[in-house]
Amino acid sequence: MIRAMRPTYLLPLVLGACAALPVDTQATATATKTRPPNIVVIFIDDLGYADIGPFGGGIPTPHLDRMAAEGMKFTDFSVSSAVCSASRAALLTGCYHQRVGIAGALGPDAKSGLHPDEVTIAELCKSKGYATACFGKWHLGHHPKFLPTNQGFDEFYGLPYSNDMWPLHPAYADLPPDAAKRKQGYPPLPLLDGERVVDAEVTGEEQALLTRQYTERAVDFIERHREQPFFLYVPHTMVHVPLFASPEFAGKSGHGPYGDVVMEIDWSVGAILAALQRGGIDDDTLVLFTSDNGPWLSYGEHAGSAGALREGKGTMFEGGIRTPTLARWPGRVPAGSVCGEFAATIDVLPTIARLVGAELPQHRIDGFDISPLLLAEPEATSPHRLFCCYYDGGQLQAVRDARWKLHFPHRYATLGGGPGGSNGRPAPYRTESIGLALFDLRADPGETTDVAAAHPDVVARLQALAAAARADLGDKLTGTAGQGVRPAGKLLPEDALMRW
Ligand code: MG
Repeated sequence: MIRAMRPTYLLPLVLGACAALPVDTQATATATKTRPPNIVVIFIDDLGYADIGPFGGGIPTPHLDRMAAEGMKFTDFSVSSAVCSASRAALLTGCYHQRVGIAGALGPDAKSGLHPDEVTIAELCKSKGYATACFGKWHLGHHPKFLPTNQGFDEFYGLPYSNDMWPLHPAYADLPPDAAKRKQGYPPLPLLDGERVVDAEVTGEEQALLTRQYTERAVDFIERHREQPFFLYVPHTMVHVPLFASPEFAGKSGHGPYGDVVMEIDWSVGAILAALQRGGIDDDTLVLFTSDNGPWLSYGEHAGSAGALREGKGTMFEGGIRTPTLARWPGRVPAGSVCGEFAATIDVLPTIARLVGAELPQHRIDGFDISPLLLAEPEATSPHRLFCCYYDGGQLQAVRDARWKLHFPHRYATLGGGPGGSNGRPAPYRTESIGLALFDLRADPGETTDVAAAHPDVVARLQALAAAARADLGDKLTGTAGQGVRPAGKLLPEDALMRW
């Protein structure tokens, strides 16, 4: 349901539906557009729910503040996994990562990747004549057959996987160069342009330039494609540790190295918005901003904040999977609007398919078209009224509907209230367990109070839906094999290897 009200981006966290401006200010919202929209997806790595201004963060983020004021803020938007590769697989395919066989984070020794038969957003957009580009961290397989250029992207510039898979990680800083742990550590980190290694050994000074370089590429791409619809995917390396900001931002935020990298990400968003405006394609472009998972809390002062949400990256609590999400499309997405309806990254592909007029993939996907929420259509509600499931390491750890979230008994890593690390080095997690527990996310997004005993009907309903999900997608907690799981791509003997 849509409520007419004043600009609402400063309203409290939980709202029932997408709230928009008064109808008379939306005259352009119903204007017929003949041109299909450009799509820009900005995907931040490990950004916490409460790190940016529109979500209550204290780090200066004027460009994201403006994006929220000119667009829509989603307060209950979720990823399907709280870890990098799995989360990216879900975003780009519209499927649970469990369905496409991608779990956790692929390392430099991985011999797998997103299966070439999976249909990515880029491939879907290409079917409609879009130009496509990915500038940032890929992390869905680093050997040539898995790279973005073989998954629908015309252009790629960036890292094949995470920037901490790097021999110079601060965790090794006190070790002598020939120490055994260092030798067993990661190979040199490569930087790729297309499928070509353009830097075989990225240094810290070079990591500090990545945000700027991705942004320059993005702006250049926008300028080159003013006359052709495009899909631009910017999965930034930062704010994942180790943290590096360019000299223009290092030491400038007043919030330490983490604040500096957030500030530079904010600058990058502003540069992309400015390029759209300069090109006269502001009104023709949907920009979506979100994060792949919550803050990596063990890194302490080098981690973000999930605010009042429980836990962070790596867990299926809201701090791990609820991400700060903004959408902007002047004239179509109401300015200053807030959507409290539940939506997720698996919805991005089917939504884009609808907006660009592309056919959905032939195989099964899990997301829904949320364009009615995005465009604030009257009475629009979450398409996930029935169900959404959360897998970690093949375990179905939690399920939810638009209001209720049921955790199944599982173990998770936590600081347990203890301090995080310092100087770029992590503090150790310990393992704790949660039993069967039901949370009312509307009343208790921080998952503090188990209300299973008071709502046995809700527990039974979600358990029945979870049983069906296990039969479809499997579950290591119960030893269930899934009938609807598709395999990840495997490196075959005849395949080319990425060497650097
Ligand atoms: Mg991440």
